[in-house]
Amino acid sequence: MPEKTPLNSTPVGPPNDPPPYTSTSASTNARVPPAPNTSNTMYGSAAAPCLLSPTIYPPETLRTKPANTICPHCHQSVLTVTKNEGGTATILGVVALYLCGWHHGGCLIPCCLPCVQDVNHLCPNCNTRIAKFDRFEQSTVVK
Ligand SMILES: [Zn+2]
Repeated sequence: MPEKTPLNSTPVGPPNDPPPYTSTSASTNARVPPAPNTSNTMYGSAAAPCLLSPTIYPPETLRTKPANTICPHCHQSVLTVTKNEGGTATILGVVALYLCGWHHGGCLIPCCLPCVQDVNHLCPNCNTRIAKFDRFEQSTVVK
């Protein structure tokens, strides 16, 4: 009876310890080197095209913000300069406020609000107007 107990406990101990340690460390070492190479290659190729190609928009697509376009007058690639100007939406805003009872100058508030004014896109190179965005019709006229 006393001899059976040591025989049973001896085979249980050794098989649990060695196998997991050896196999885990070997697979971890094999996976580490390829990972940094793959991520570096993707980062470099993704950043390069963004710096080389600025987007140039046709004058017909200009809206409220300055944008890169080709000036039809001097044929240069320029970033437009925007200037706000009263238009149909501005006049309708003034009339609407006047009809609502804003009689003592309050109805002129739309004349100071860029969000209801037309936007002129000017060429910074030759100072001529490239396009005008009509806020009321939500369309751009090229001149
Ligand atoms: Zn120009």
